[in-house]
Order: sequence, then structure tokens, then C-alpha cells
Amino acid sequence: MTIISANLQAVRARIAAAAKAAGRAPESVRLLAVSKTWPALSVREAASGGQLAFGESYLQEALAKIDSLAGLGLEWHFIGPLQSNKTQGVAENFHWVHGVDREKIAARLSAQRPAAMPPLQVCLQVNVSGEKSKSGVAPEQVEVLARIVAALPGLQLRGLMTIPEAGADSTLLRSRFGTLRDLLVHLNSQGMVLDTLSMGMSDDLEEAIAEGATIVRVGSAIFGERPKHELKGAS
Ligand SMILES: *Cc1c(COP(=O)(O)O)cnc(C)c1O
Repeated sequence: MTIISANLQAVRARIAAAAKAAGRAPESVRLLAVSKTWPALSVREAASGGQLAFGESYLQEALAKIDSLAGLGLEWHFIGPLQSNKTQGVAENFHWVHGVDREKIAARLSAQRPAAMPPLQVCLQVNVSGEKSKSGVAPEQVEVLARIVAALPGLQLRGLMTIPEAGADSTLLRSRFGTLRDLLVHLNSQGMVLDTLSMGMSDDLEEAIAEGATIVRVGSAIFGERPKHELKGAS
């Protein structure tokens, strides 16, 4: 067994234990393997360990991997910051995008989604910590943006995503993740049908699952530590 397969098993065991502790079914939490900065070979190794969904943050790097691994039936999620100049590459090559936080970007993604492909699955990124430097829509503005995105034909709004502030302790993490869950519950009470909470990474997936995460985005616990110049949760 490769190191990546062993790490995958360990992460799956953590997910199952956290789900059980929260009284949830382990299958209610999907694992997204964050392969940014790692070569196609690492993705191939994870795929042979049964992992099919991968998260990428850097468009050019991702497109090369998607191209070289076509045929493996992988599902690609764009989790990086989204600027206008990247929307076309994302709309044409990914299944999901987790970082939508403004109307202009959503409208471009919808218009650029090829008609022959199913709608792009979208999570809105919410800035629950209120840090000025962070991407994400403010909690008070989520509902307005959600209604706009839900009406775009090339997109299917699935839910919400967040990245808490670095260095938060377990109590604060629970509170941030709980805020995201409450927002999703609120949107559903307003008639939306959203099923996805994308929250939790290598160091905080337990807190996220305790608060209802349905997708955890895990990189270093599967592939190893990334080179130092790569910023965690790069924005
Ligand atoms: C890099 C990244 C992750 C994975 O982080 P790890 O700490 O390596 O698990 C998750 N989400 C986003 C948005 C990222 O950029």
C-alpha cells in the first residue's frame, strides 16, 4: 500500500469516528481530496485507493492534471479564489466550484458553462470570521446572492462553504462552522433546497463534522505537507 492510500484510510477513519460521535452516518460526509501543488501521479495514486473527488486551487496546474487524467472518471472541484479571468477555464472543465462570492463571477460562470454539460455545482463562500482580508460574502448578504445564483441557468446552487480564521481554537471553530450551518438552515426555511456544507480541512474536520459538514476538503493529511510558499486556504 502506498503512503497516500494509507493516509486516505486514516482520514476516512477520522471522518467515520467524527460522524459517529455526532450521531451521523459516515456516508453523509464526502471527502474531497485537495491535490493542489501535487502532481498527477499523486492524484492517480489516490484514485487507485478509491478516491474520486479532487480539489484544485490553481487553474493552469489543474487543467494540466484534468487533461492528463481524463478517462479515470474523476470529479473536479475548484476551491481557489475566482477572478474574472479564470471563470471560463473553470466553467468548461470542473464539476463543482466552492468559492463563489459575487454576482459578477456567478453570471460569468453561468454564461460560460457549455450547454452540453450539466450545470456547474456551486457553493457560495461565506466570510463567517469577518476578516477584512478574506474572500467570501458577508453573512447578511448571503440570501440576496443565493437567490441570484439559484436563478442562473448554467449553475446549480448546492450550498455554502467557509474557511475559518487561522489559529482558531476548537470552541471558535465550532462556532464558525455552526454559523455556516445556521445560514444554510435559514436559506432552506426560505424555500431553497440546499444540501451542502463545505467546511473542514486537515486540522479541523472533526469540528466541522460535529457542526454538520457534508463535504470536508482535506489536503495535507492525505498528500503530505505542501511547500511552505503555498498559503493555507490561499486567497
Ligand atoms: C488548501 C485548501 C484546503 C486543504 O487544506 P489542508 O489543510 O491541506 O487540508 C482546503 N480548502 C481550501 C479552500 C484550500 O485552499
